[in-house]
Amino acid sequence: MAHYTPLSAFLSRHFDHKVQKISVNAGFTCPNRDGTLGRGGCTYCNNQTFNPDYCATSESVREQLERGKTFFRRAQQKRAAKRGQTETVSGVEMKYLAYFQAYTNTYGELTRLMQLYEEALAVPDVVGLVIGTRPDCVSEELLDYFAQLQQRAFVLIEYGVESTSDASLRRINRGHDFATAADAIWRTAARGLPVGAHFILGLPGESADFTAAQAADINRLPLDTLKLHQLQIVRGTAMAREFVEQQEKAAADPSFRSDFHLYSAEAYAALVVDLLERLRPDLVVERFTSFSPKALLLAPDWGLKNHEFTTLVEREFVRRGTHQGSLWDGTTPSSR
Ligand code: SF4
Repeated sequence: MAHYTPLSAFLSRHFDHKVQKISVNAGFTCPNRDGTLGRGGCTYCNNQTFNPDYCATSESVREQLERGKTFFRRAQQKRAAKRGQTETVSGVEMKYLAYFQAYTNTYGELTRLMQLYEEALAVPDVVGLVIGTRPDCVSEELLDYFAQLQQRAFVLIEYGVESTSDASLRRINRGHDFATAADAIWRTAARGLPVGAHFILGLPGESADFTAAQAADINRLPLDTLKLHQLQIVRGTAMAREFVEQQEKAAADPSFRSDFHLYSAEAYAALVVDLLERLRPDLVVERFTSFSPKALLLAPDWGLKNHEFTTLVEREFVRRGTHQGSLWDGTTPSSR
C-alpha cells in the first residue's frame, strides 16, 4: 500500500470506471507574456515542454482527443498483449478526461472558452475536463459556468501556485502573489468544484526547511489534489540565464554562493517525504516530478522515469517508518 494518498484514491471517489487524461493544446496564450497581467512570462517557463507527441496545435480539440484516445488504446493493447490477453482491457471500460494543459486555459472570451470546453465534452467517452490555469485568470462568470457544467460532467480546476512565498513568486515573475492563489482556490471550492494546485519544490532561495513548512499553508486551503515538481532549469528561459550567470560567478569567485540548489534524485525524494509527512492525509498527491524533454533540460538530469522516482519516495517512507500526515498538525481548510 502506498504511503501517501495517490490519484487513484481521488479518481475512485468520482468514477466507477477507469479514466485516462488526454492533454489538449487549444491554442491559448498566456496573459503573463502578452502584457495583460505581466510581461516576459514566468522565468522557468518554456512552453515547448508542455505537449506530448500526440498533441498538435494545428488540430482541433476534437481531433487531438481522438488522436489521444487512439494513442492510449494502442498502449492498452500492447500491455494486454504482453500479459497474453487478446482483449484490449479485459472488459474494463475506459473513459477520458480532456486535460487543457498548455498555457493559460481560461484566458479568452467566455463564449470562446465555452465552445472549446463543449467541443471536448462532445467527443465520445470524454466524461470531464481538467483545466490548468493561473489563479489570477478566473472570473466569477467562468466559475459559475464551471459550477453549472459539473451538473453533467466532471470538472477539476488546477491552479499554478508554485510557492507560498511572495518573495519567490516575485523572483520567478509569476505576476501574482500567494493570497491571489488562495483566493482563487477558495472561490472555486465554494462552488463545489474540485481544485488542484501545482507547486515547484526548491525554487532559488528556498531552503529545504521552508519547502517542507509550506505544508502548513497548503493544509489550510480547500484543495483536493496536489502536483509537486522538482525545479528544472530549462534551456531558453530567463531562469537558465540566471543559473548560468550564478555558476560563472561562483567559478570566478570562490566566496560567491549561488542560491540555486538542485537536488539529487535521492535528496529530492527526501524533500518530498519531508513535505508529505506534514500534509493532511486526505490530500491527494498526483505526482512528484515532471520531466522536460532531454534536449531542453539543462539540469538536473536524473535519467529516471516517474515510476522509478515514486519507488525512491516509497523507499524513503519505509526507511523512516512514516507516511503522509505522520507529522500533520491537524490543520484543515477553515473558512476565511
Ligand atoms: S508557466 Fe504558465 S503562467 Fe507562467 S509564463 Fe508559462 S504559460 Fe504563462
